[in-house]
Amino acid sequence: MPIKAYTGAASFPVDTADDVTALVDLLGRAATDSRLRNDLSDHFAYVAGVCPEWFRPHQEAVVTQFLDGFDVSFDNLYVLLNGAPTSCVEHLERRLRNRWSFREASALAAIGTEPALTAIADLVRDGADPQEFEDSGVWTPSTGPAQYRFSPHRRAIEFRSASGPAERLTADHPVGLPLDQIVRHPDATALVWHYLSLRLAEVPGMPDWPAGRVHLVSPKGSVGWMLTAAVDRDGFWYDEVVTFDEPPENDDDDFVDNDDQGSIGAVVLRPYDDDLVYSNGHVLLTPGVFGTAGGPAIGLYPNPHCRSCDRLMFHVVTVQNYIREYGHGWRSLYLCEECRLTTCTATNWN
Ligand SMILES: [Zn+2]
Repeated sequence: MPIKAYTGAASFPVDTADDVTALVDLLGRAATDSRLRNDLSDHFAYVAGVCPEWFRPHQEAVVTQFLDGFDVSFDNLYVLLNGAPTSCVEHLERRLRNRWSFREASALAAIGTEPALTAIADLVRDGADPQEFEDSGVWTPSTGPAQYRFSPHRRAIEFRSASGPAERLTADHPVGLPLDQIVRHPDATALVWHYLSLRLAEVPGMPDWPAGRVHLVSPKGSVGWMLTAAVDRDGFWYDEVVTFDEPPENDDDDFVDNDDQGSIGAVVLRPYDDDLVYSNGHVLLTPGVFGTAGGPAIGLYPNPHCRSCDRLMFHVVTVQNYIREYGHGWRSLYLCEECRLTTCTATNWN
């Protein structure tokens, strides 16, 4: 089977379970061949999106023998390794207690079974840095096993333009919503820009939430900020707190008008299947796709903790700023379902 960079579903050479076996057979060589390793990671992103069940028979061999050649980002890794047998958990925990390895910690977090989550909690309580798992969206409470703070079900976020302003008000997942739909007093808020809202119940695996929709919005600022707010029973935001990595430049000429600038439309939630384009380990080269709801955050930055109860917040969605052009970098939305707090973050590309 030829291994080549993957640029579209039609050219992808994974058609049968035997093709996945052939990919796994290359992992030993990939440990010392970085180019092969990169090509394989794209193929495994496709397998995670389209046919993860074909990978299941290989979980144990990959975890115990071929992890060095298996360079797969966590949002694909947790799909491929999910539910791996307890022998894998024991192997990884033993190795991690002997010598810490990011790759093995990620593999343990990806398994997600009760024994795996218990092993993570034991490692953290015995002195491992909790951040090693929290960056993947896995939180260790003071007692009990670790917890996934993301839905295991991913949906690609595709933007579609609206024909007029009325359409965005009635859409399930609008883009470019007027700010008076989010806060009761639009002239007394730090919000200046709406990226998107999601009807949470339509993304499987999300927590219960008092309001129909959750909102991803921005204060004035290009990147490196975090915005947290409480949500009342009608879904309106109050008690906002904005923090910046660096003090923002105070430039009043940089006027932003959410209601008169930028595109408007709605988001469609697409399943991961072979209609998406898998490249560089992600689906963002699919026309119209700007991010993912469900799954973990991108893992390059710390996930926020709840400002009230300190629990790691639940990741809902991450999109590129291009979905509605303002600022730059990644925009992510998190929740604490217990405290009814919502947090939006803006992080740089890498
Ligand atoms: Zn909380």
